[in-house]
Amino acid sequence: MKTLIRGATILAMGGPHGDEPFTGDVLIEDERIAAIGPNLGPTGDASLIDGRDRLVMPGLVNGHLHSSEQFFKGRYEKMPLEVWLLYAYPLLMAPPIPERLLYLRSMLVAIESIKGGVTTICDCFFDPPVLSIERLGVVFAAYEAAGLRANVTNSIINIPVLDTLPFAREIVPVELQALLAGGAMVTGAAYADYCEAAFAAFDGKAGRLRYMISPSAPQRCTVDLLEACSEMALRHRVPFHTHVLETKTQAVTGPELFGKTLIRYLRDLGVLNRNVTIAHSVWVSDDDIALMGDARCSVVYNAISNQKLGAGVAPLRRLLDAGVTIALGTDGASSNDTLRIFDVMRVAALVHAVSGPDYSRWLGAEDIMRAATIGGARSAMLEEETGSLEVGKRADLIVLRTDNVVFTPMNDPRKHLVYAENGSSLELVMINGEIVLRDGKLTRIDENEILREAREAVPAYLGAHSRIEEKNRVFEPYFAEIHRRSTLRDIGLNRYAGDMPAWPGANRA
Ligand SMILES: [Zn+2]
Repeated sequence: MKTLIRGATILAMGGPHGDEPFTGDVLIEDERIAAIGPNLGPTGDASLIDGRDRLVMPGLVNGHLHSSEQFFKGRYEKMPLEVWLLYAYPLLMAPPIPERLLYLRSMLVAIESIKGGVTTICDCFFDPPVLSIERLGVVFAAYEAAGLRANVTNSIINIPVLDTLPFAREIVPVELQALLAGGAMVTGAAYADYCEAAFAAFDGKAGRLRYMISPSAPQRCTVDLLEACSEMALRHRVPFHTHVLETKTQAVTGPELFGKTLIRYLRDLGVLNRNVTIAHSVWVSDDDIALMGDARCSVVYNAISNQKLGAGVAPLRRLLDAGVTIALGTDGASSNDTLRIFDVMRVAALVHAVSGPDYSRWLGAEDIMRAATIGGARSAMLEEETGSLEVGKRADLIVLRTDNVVFTPMNDPRKHLVYAENGSSLELVMINGEIVLRDGKLTRIDENEILREAREAVPAYLGAHSRIEEKNRVFEPYFAEIHRRSTLRDIGLNRYAGDMPAWPGANRA
């Protein structure tokens, strides 16, 4: 099957044109891009898409999200990570979500992603306390049905939470600590068995699904688990997808628990490699940045989530200079409230400027466009398959109208995309050569029916979740104190953008 997009403004983000816009054609044969250039001439029996007043670019990559938060959008605010986690990921847990809701939840992620011009997601979902191949299969099934390209994993933690936070054993009363005691933790070997079964069952399905490895964070996993994760990720050539240095509390965690930063800890274990993908990387030191550059690893910057949880601003320019790949992510729909990468592009570009007055170092639209496309693909270990429009790559692309108020008059299309577009110009989404959204409508699934079912079924689940939240509220003062004490610790690093006094009585941050 052949499709020709003729006479469009094209941003290829790779190949001979690089990230310079040009007017031309794209020929798609089956799943792949067969030709791209200024004028491809007659192409026989290809079905034609008129590219006039249209912009064609690679589909966006959402390098980091948690589908497990999808029912919590519009639910929380005004909480730092350590406090918010108590409610979004309760310590005193709920029973596992029923399978139909698990499916609907993943389907909502797929719908919101595709309708926002995202063609690849990296979903790091949590499903405590279970680790089930069948339930993982439910998540994969949703993305398979919707037509999305997805790297999927269920994140693993095998250290009790109070041992992963600075000061926690000292601050949390013993009677509350007792509530969290017990429960066997999975070993590296057991997790490896689970992951190998997941690779066998799902990896490579439909030409667009991959299983990846996700130890939640270095301080949340034992050394044997981190080593098993690294070995598997390298052997299967998939990301070792983890969270590092999102908050000031985590910047205090490394020195408190290991006598070194969390990045140096990973490096000393020998697990900081090219396929390591680090969500956040806000509180990295200059030494950390150098180690990350040496490793050629990737960072997924979650600009909106980091602002919502008050985490700070990542030093993206320094990371780029060191040779680290930058991708963009929304993080979960609870710490962000949408899965719109267009929003993250805009915020990432803008917020970086408030981290310093040297405007020669600010990020530009080209930096952001690369992060949203080929950088994202690289962070997902998929740069040979997607992330740019090049001959031989999978046809993962989006078409936007430019005869609207967003692009009229047209200056530099890259700057329109970063600073003016929000996804409203999106007309068509193609993934793996298949049109999955046309004229704003999903072609593979009945969106209205899924939304109707979710509106009917989810409120009871959220009601039960409210009761879980109430049970966990008892921990809040102590987690707030962990956050407060960490923010007061001088570590010679400041990634907060503003100058709000840190706490009453404290010196200005
Ligand atoms: Zn995350």
